[in-house]
Amino acid sequence: MSRPPFDTVALIGIGLIGSSISHGIRRSGLARRIVGHAQSDATRQTALELGLVESAFDSAADAVAQADLVILCVPVGACGTIAAGIASRLRAGTILTDVGSVKGAIVRDVAPHVPPGVHFVPGHPIAGTEHSGPRSGFAELFDGRWCVLTPPAGADENAVDRLKAFWQGLGSHVEVMTPDHHDMVLAITSHVPHLIAYNIVNTAAHLERVTASEVIKFSAGGFRDFTRIAASDPTMWRDVFLNNKAAVIEMLGRFTEDLTALQRAIRFDDGESLFRLFGEARQIRRGIIQAGQDTDAADFGRPHGAAQPQTSLSAATKSRT
Ligand code: NAP
Repeated sequence: MSRPPFDTVALIGIGLIGSSISHGIRRSGLARRIVGHAQSDATRQTALELGLVESAFDSAADAVAQADLVILCVPVGACGTIAAGIASRLRAGTILTDVGSVKGAIVRDVAPHVPPGVHFVPGHPIAGTEHSGPRSGFAELFDGRWCVLTPPAGADENAVDRLKAFWQGLGSHVEVMTPDHHDMVLAITSHVPHLIAYNIVNTAAHLERVTASEVIKFSAGGFRDFTRIAASDPTMWRDVFLNNKAAVIEMLGRFTEDLTALQRAIRFDDGESLFRLFGEARQIRRGIIQAGQDTDAADFGRPHGAAQPQTSLSAATKSRT
């Protein structure tokens, strides 16, 4: 049997993304050994019980000491402190990466702590669900999804190639771009949609003349799909918005202008504009299906028939974050 591409992978954070990476590593034989760290005893214990890691350390620094690949799978706001804490224990030649949904802030917070000889290559798998924690992961999460890498200028090419091959081994397609470009694209494809979902769910909840039971009872009218997105982890999303401010505010400005145009069209009975704008939007949906990023199954791709276990969500129910 050929040697796996990595000897020891250290997962710092063992939630949805960390546990999915562990399942994917096992599925594809990408490492000989997986070790990990999470902040709570409960998560470390669960990770051991589920076999996600062979050793669960209560210190991130101890977890990385033997690793040749270290992956930060914690909320964006925690990455800088963790990088400072592990820096002195990272071995020369180790690849340090992350999965944070924002890239500029990760570079700002992590890069200053990276010792010479350690290869820092930030990353972001554009794959997720609204679930969190070590029990929510599954090997198929990354299949057919994109993973963006944002290596700094002058990054070691061999390290970038090894990390690319790692994500391809997890089932992803890989694209390289700058952190700023990543943050702008993700602001409109992921961050603003989540903000809209949080907002519409709260607006409905605050309506005085619609009861909570009506909101739940008639949710299939479209509202339900926003509630799925709005069920995402509050810590993760707080950190995303605090760390991608500029791009989110820019995209919200554009969104507000376009919303105002729709509002005007409705006010002035401009059916022609409404029809044209809705038709253009429908084309985007068709493009997403053609690109294999969703299926055209009705009802937002929900599985019909037997309920799916949480650990093997169908590709169709994966969201992109
Ligand atoms: P999650 O399921 O909530 O897991 C977070 C993990 O990080 C947990 O193991 C948690 O430990 C640990 N953690 C949190 N703060 C920590 C700290 N200060 N020190 C050490 N460990 C800490 O989150 P996730 O969905 O996997 O997200 C992780 C990262 O992936 C985030 O940066 C997010 O932006 C990115 N991401 C998420 C998605 C998505 O859809 N969820 C998609 C792509 C990328 P405890 O359990 O002990 O608290």
